Amino acid sequence: MASPPSLTTAQPPMAVSLHGRCTLPPHLLPPSCRIQPPPSTPPLSSKLPVPLRSAARRRRPAPIAPRCAVRAALPTVDRAATPAGSGDGELLLEVRGLTAVIAETGQEIIKGVDLAIYEGEVHAIMGKNGSGKSTFAKVLVGHPDYEVTGGSMMFKGENLLEMEPENRSLAGLFMSFQSPVEIPGVSNADFLNMAYNARRRKLNQPELSPIEFWAYVYPKLDLLNMKADFLNRNVNEGFSGGERKRNEILQLAVLGAELAILDEIDSGLDVDALRDVAKAVNGLLTPKNSVLMITHYLRLLEFIEPRYVHVMENGKIVKTGDISIAKTLEKEGFKAISEI
Ligand code: ADP
Ligand code: MG
Repeated sequence: MASPPSLTTAQPPMAVSLHGRCTLPPHLLPPSCRIQPPPSTPPLSSKLPVPLRSAARRRRPAPIAPRCAVRAALPTVDRAATPAGSGDGELLLEVRGLTAVIAETGQEIIKGVDLAIYEGEVHAIMGKNGSGKSTFAKVLVGHPDYEVTGGSMMFKGENLLEMEPENRSLAGLFMSFQSPVEIPGVSNADFLNMAYNARRRKLNQPELSPIEFWAYVYPKLDLLNMKADFLNRNVNEGFSGGERKRNEILQLAVLGAELAILDEIDSGLDVDALRDVAKAVNGLLTPKNSVLMITHYLRLLEFIEPRYVHVMENGKIVKTGDISIAKTLEKEGFKAISEI
């Protein structure tokens, strides 16, 4: 086995915290945040728009309907007709009538989304550019650019609106960003070790030392066909598009989320890289965890087969079905879907 990479960095991982704690994975940092070394830099929190939490406090979420009512409210396909081998677990994510605006301008982007995801299910969201797919995903993880103005989002029975972004992450919600951010001065190894230990603390498990962490992460590199020196490089700094996507999935493999939201993980990947990434994602799927993929392309869905495909239009899910929706889209475009 190769020797462990150095786990020292020019800057302590502390610098990645938005809230004075070292618990925030990069996928939760706003794209505008390029982390600078302390102490000359003012805290990032001072630059952030109105936090989601204050919005949540201002408006009480709508009451949660019982499980059967949620199912009934969704334009679901017949469960028996969907691909076998997944689902039938507990309700993981329940979104009801969600509306959200851009915090800075007040423009409404999410206009009443309903979605229920159960353990062991793979869902995909498709839709034209600008239909609100990424915004929906970012609202779920608590991105500070957006304010929730109505509806509810529950994850494992907990109200996401009352949770800080890092607590959502620690609770098992993971998002891979469409454009992952760079964190200069923080090595991948330190970053992953820190994020993983934060999750272990949350689960009341002992933290791993850098050497123990190396033993834990090394096999995961293999899964993604990534070289070990990847761990010594600063998070996403100078990474190609494909390397960034692989790195996002490495983070997912390390953190082991219950719900992974993957926003266009296929963009910029050649077919070999796509196969590696898909293989890694499939390898992480268990009857207990779920994936929500956002994509434009059928080819990703052929590698990671979804149980449900949703179509988003103008901030709402307007259609739900199985992979045949993606096939129709690929052949005939979005016009065909709105006519079905
Ligand atoms: P999709 O991922 O479906 O392509 P997005 O969710 O990225 O769409 O964007 C939906 C719409 O909201 C777009 O018109 C986009 O320009 C706008 N939007 C999203 N976030 C912001 C933001 N932070 N500031 C300004 N406009 C935004
Ligand atoms: Mg997008």
